Amino acid sequence: MIGAFEGIDGAHSQLALDAYFKARALTSASTLGTPSFRSAAVAVSAGRADVGIVPIDNAIAGTVRDGYDLLLEFDLVPIAEIVWRMDHRLLGVPGATLDGVREILAHPLVMAECGKFLASLPNARAVPCEDTGIAAREVARSGNAALAAIAPPSAAVRYELIELAPRVADHPENFTRFIVFRARGSSDPGYAVDESDGPRKTSLVLVTSNAPGSLARCLAVIAQAGISLAKLESKPTLGRPQQAEFYLDIDGDLLDPDHAGALAALRSAALDLRMIGSYRANAHVAVAAAAAAPHVPLSVIRDVLPKPPKSASSSSATPRAARDSRPHGTRVRVDGVEIGDGSFTIIAGPCSVESRQQVLETAFSVRDAGALMLRGGAFKPRTNPYAFQGLGWDGVGLLAEAGRATGLPTVSEVMSIDQVERMASQIDVLQIGARNMQNFDLLKAVGRTGKPVLLKRGLSASIEELIAAAEYVMSEGNPNVILCERGIRTFETATRNTLDLSAVPVLREKTHLPVIVDPSHGVGVRRWIAPMCRAAKASGAHGIIVEVHPNPPEALSDKDQALTFDDFRAIVAELERVPVFTGATPVEV
Ligand code: PEP
Ligand code: MN
Repeated sequence: MIGAFEGIDGAHSQLALDAYFKARALTSASTLGTPSFRSAAVAVSAGRADVGIVPIDNAIAGTVRDGYDLLLEFDLVPIAEIVWRMDHRLLGVPGATLDGVREILAHPLVMAECGKFLASLPNARAVPCEDTGIAAREVARSGNAALAAIAPPSAAVRYELIELAPRVADHPENFTRFIVFRARGSSDPGYAVDESDGPRKTSLVLVTSNAPGSLARCLAVIAQAGISLAKLESKPTLGRPQQAEFYLDIDGDLLDPDHAGALAALRSAALDLRMIGSYRANAHVAVAAAAAAPHVPLSVIRDVLPKPPKSASSSSATPRAARDSRPHGTRVRVDGVEIGDGSFTIIAGPCSVESRQQVLETAFSVRDAGALMLRGGAFKPRTNPYAFQGLGWDGVGLLAEAGRATGLPTVSEVMSIDQVERMASQIDVLQIGARNMQNFDLLKAVGRTGKPVLLKRGLSASIEELIAAAEYVMSEGNPNVILCERGIRTFETATRNTLDLSAVPVLREKTHLPVIVDPSHGVGVRRWIAPMCRAAKASGAHGIIVEVHPNPPEALSDKDQALTFDDFRAIVAELERVPVFTGATPVEV
């Protein structure tokens, strides 16, 4: 027996389904996680699962229309109702505190159930997450103390999280009603029969005309049959103002032959009656009885539940960066821009910020051409101490101003630990330059900021060393690392460095972090940048970073590789013709 639910292990639906199987001694039954309520319905319709589960309403948030609508749309047969107590707790990684939380991952329905609690945390914003289990898993994987999830205590045990706040739902008596269903025509899963002697409920959708008294006539039929109404909620009928629709739950089995007369009368009183079906009411009695149970501390639950299996990735030397710790890849969010989401992100701007006029002019030009982020160095790692060293904090201020003026998030290099905090307050992405890739204390310092980090590969660093450097940042609790291939030192002198594009598929296979390419520093010669931009996109990179200057011959640093505004526009146009690679890893076809 297989039961389909929305989410991954630890989701409330899965817990409810599991408990249901256990209560019926279906010990060999297993659960199948699917991406949505709809896909759970599809799995059952297509015979990939014997039963499925969807919520139909919650005591605080109200009707889950999707639940009723999917049962109707797929003509599924409801078997049983499970009234499940939603024990929502705020969970974080070990060491996290409630005060330190800035983002809370939660299923949108759960957010609605915990509105008062969420409003009591002014410094934290709620981020919708596809499922409760995923919310808990993502927090665990992030290792980030600023991230928390709303999930049940069993998810805390499974994902080794701690409780930051107990029972965070708006009311302790917070129940969701789930429906377990099967496909019509499928063989009876075998236990519906033993349900037959318990109390039953019937769900249906009733359509009435908007004329006065039409709903009352239908309700009178139900009253006369001596059965009570458990729920009545109107359902918007878009585009049909002359009729009204209602979700109805009735205590009793309206399909029972005893009620045949009532059902026929109801059908004739209504414009239309769409029967969802009748099912065993409140099938999971044990949980319902626990409604008034006191809050159970996590420490007690932890002792009772089996320990979670250790993930394979924990044996890796770089467990946080390893691909298997996040098989679907990481998206690094920088304001509205997401790197690693399957699109191709172009970052452009001058090598160095030289003046207000220069950075503003460049910022507007690259933005209008299609760049999504603005780069610009203020602290420059120059080989010669007498070369232009950057404008320092004045440059940071000018870059931030250009970012605000254009709406582009900004990227700038941070060279020392004492610059980190101030830079993090003004700039959106902290760049670690090639020369600092193994400056481990600096890596830890940017790790502690939680800000997105653009980590460049060292001049003579192996791919393994680049991943280990990323692990340094992540080990401090910052999962927001973007890797950058910018060329390495080889015996070749024709180009400034040797742009190792083969690092792209290798990195994407070995890690879940987004990978971008810097062809400017890779080849060092203006006219060779465009072909390598195209190659970078074709190789599966998530984006590029290039240097652009209003007047390259006058650039104070890296003038030979600075693109003109026209060059940049041409590159963006050419890149349009290179398809973006959408597989999870470039080696996956
Ligand atoms: C830069 O991006 O301006 C820079 C100095 O790059 P890298 O550290 O890759 O040399
Ligand atoms: Mn440069």
